[in-house]
Amino acid sequence: MSIKSQIEEIVASLGDRASLVVVSKTYPVEDLEQAYATGQRRFGESRPQEMTMKHGALPQDIEWHMIGHLQRNKVRMIAPYVSMIESVDSLRLAEAIEVEAARCDRTIDCLLEIHVAQEQSKTGWRYEELLELVKSGGFDHMRHIRWRGVMGIASNTYDEEVVRGDFNLLKEHKEELAQYFTDDFDTLSMGMSHDYILAVECGSTSVRVGSKIFGERDYSK
Ligand SMILES: *Cc1c(COP(=O)(O)O)cnc(C)c1O
Repeated sequence: MSIKSQIEEIVASLGDRASLVVVSKTYPVEDLEQAYATGQRRFGESRPQEMTMKHGALPQDIEWHMIGHLQRNKVRMIAPYVSMIESVDSLRLAEAIEVEAARCDRTIDCLLEIHVAQEQSKTGWRYEELLELVKSGGFDHMRHIRWRGVMGIASNTYDEEVVRGDFNLLKEHKEELAQYFTDDFDTLSMGMSHDYILAVECGSTSVRVGSKIFGERDYSK
């Protein structure tokens, strides 16, 4: 199946329930151009260097989403143009984003990445810790960050009930946190190639899909 037909199929299945972030990490610029030609404008990358290279090579109306673990010393590279940082998983990272966004005279949309999967290895906040911090006003001084919601990754299992449980939990977290933020806190980013349909059933507003569109990823590139 072509990139175009895969995207059309996914977009049709989302309807107006959720929007699509085309996860383009590791794929070549030519593949992104094909996705762009179908009308897609939101692309997700996980490495600042790669994202910056692609940002330079592709049309300027693309909205770039950082979805991978971000080191504080790499924030400066993407701050001038990044549209959303979905993977904010520590206070120190948020503080670095605040500093760099202020330096660029921008407000950057950000999501709080929360750990909901069963596996230990997955990144993201421990929810209890995050809630404490939010309640105590730990993010209130960050004038150059617009908090838009939460992002999470479900357990990597074929057991649909486990995955559904993770998605429901993330949605609950988002709803509880929302009372401490403005009405802009409206995004529930969950669902990838293998589980996005379930994620949308569970209330996802933004899915992040890569390999279903572009084919198997080759991490050696
Ligand atoms: C790579 C990645 C995706 C997309 O994964 P696919 O299985 O290729 O759809 C989604 N979210 C995050 C955080 C990722 O790192």
